[in-house]
Amino acid sequence: MAIEELAKPVNTWCPHCKPGRGCLIYPDRPGECQTFSCLWLVHDQLDHHWMPSKSRFVLTTSEDGIEVRCDPGFPDAWRKEPYRGEIREWAVSGETHDVTVVVMTGQKMTLVTPDREFDLGVVQPDERIVREIEGTQVVNATVVKASDLNEI
Ligand code: SF4
Repeated sequence: MAIEELAKPVNTWCPHCKPGRGCLIYPDRPGECQTFSCLWLVHDQLDHHWMPSKSRFVLTTSEDGIEVRCDPGFPDAWRKEPYRGEIREWAVSGETHDVTVVVMTGQKMTLVTPDREFDLGVVQPDERIVREIEGTQVVNATVVKASDLNEI
């Protein structure tokens, strides 16, 4: 994720991160880092296998739903069981509660629905996902500029 206080863009290594050791400035890390908690840290119902260092992805939330942020070195880790099955269950529940499930690998995004995966390609920070819904079922998904969305 981007860290504004460090001017660290999204999808780049933090200069304070030492692979294999962790944060080199942990006691003095920026406020954004101090207040951030991934879902595994705060959600009691996620078992130990969801720990990011085991699963190879980090679970976060957005305004729209759940984000599965993959380690680019393990882009398909989320497809392995038990992850794939549980992520699909979230998609099933999300379809009735208007919650999206998005898998992110770098800037590439995939919208996961109960029966489909919509490959959205690279989604820029100023772009948004628009879902076409019939009943509760997502039948299509596209990416548009956020500014265009405001004009609709
Ligand atoms: S916690 Fe430390 S290593 Fe991680 S982004 Fe913040 S400053 Fe960088």
